[in-house]
Amino acid sequence: MFRRPQARIDLAALQHNFEQVQKIAPHSKIMAVLKANAYGHGMLQVAGQLKSANAFGVARIDEALSLRAGGVVKPIVLLEGFFHADELPQIVASNLQIVVHQMEQVQALLNAQLDSPVRVWLKIDSGMHRLGLNETEFPQAWQLLSQSPNVVQPMRLMSHFACADERNSGITEQQLTCFNQLTANIDAEVALANSAAILAWPKTRTEWVRPGLMLYGVSPVAGQRAAQYGLKPVMTLSSSVIAVRSVRQGDKVGYGASWCAPADTRLAVVAIGYGDGYPRAAGNIASVLINQQRYPVVGRVSMDMLTVDIGVADINVGDQVILWGGDLPVEEIAEQINTIPYELLCNITSRVQFSYINAG
Ligand SMILES: *Cc1c(COP(=O)(O)O)cnc(C)c1O
Repeated sequence: MFRRPQARIDLAALQHNFEQVQKIAPHSKIMAVLKANAYGHGMLQVAGQLKSANAFGVARIDEALSLRAGGVVKPIVLLEGFFHADELPQIVASNLQIVVHQMEQVQALLNAQLDSPVRVWLKIDSGMHRLGLNETEFPQAWQLLSQSPNVVQPMRLMSHFACADERNSGITEQQLTCFNQLTANIDAEVALANSAAILAWPKTRTEWVRPGLMLYGVSPVAGQRAAQYGLKPVMTLSSSVIAVRSVRQGDKVGYGASWCAPADTRLAVVAIGYGDGYPRAAGNIASVLINQQRYPVVGRVSMDMLTVDIGVADINVGDQVILWGGDLPVEEIAEQINTIPYELLCNITSRVQFSYINAG
């Protein structure tokens, strides 16, 4: 029987990766980042496994509300805060914490009538120039919100790094210096480090860390593999062979006839394509694993299928094909097609069937 493309999520690997974060940053509390459906892994299942996390981080209020609706009672931080003042009653009612990164949010919070105070993480722009208060706004915001009955005291502080994945860049040190100067006279818990900073920049392991990608067993540092950091891949994306056929030297394969057989060979047609989230850019570039062996994807990836050159290998209809996971890291596919593993993981579509193993 044909089975849909599968994403198998190994919760023991997830737990192992979480414990790696604890080992690397033993003095830090851990805000596990679960945005974008836990980087495509399933937010509720991931939250259910990570019972030792001190908090969860998400991007948007609907993600936080899904966690609450699923029974998650842990602290949840909205990493971009609220987008409009009318979300504040819901934030209080659902006991969510907010990042405050611009003066409009400060004013809205000061002016609101809330049933109880909300926990605030003040975000400083230390040099990334995406979100965050600048050097003149931050002291004002701290001053104003320190006196607000709408805010749990003391507030916490955060910032985000632009280049933590680049070991030879001076920018992370510059951002740290900037952050430390702005906050020198303030006593507050601080959260700075994403996965790359946790792994590569020890000084960023402050009271809190905010790992995302590394929890899923994927390296955030280009050119490095998760195994080098003692991380285990959590997701295995697989499908199966639905046809095996022979082609002659010179036969052209797939849309656009973009691959021409250099010799007589055999092709396996695999039931997965960009409609499932396997990247179209991988055509004629990436490899897949069948029975532990690598075979090249030849021709264009189509919506529901791709073709693999299997030569004379003993491969049959129904055999399992691994697109990434195990010995074929998603980092490798991402590098080959000039993207990042984050994007590949987030792009998996609802056609893929998820299963969860080794829950603990
Ligand atoms: C997504 C995100 C993280 C996690 O980043 P990783 O690179 O996946 O570890 C941490 N902090 C903030 C503010 C984020 O948006």
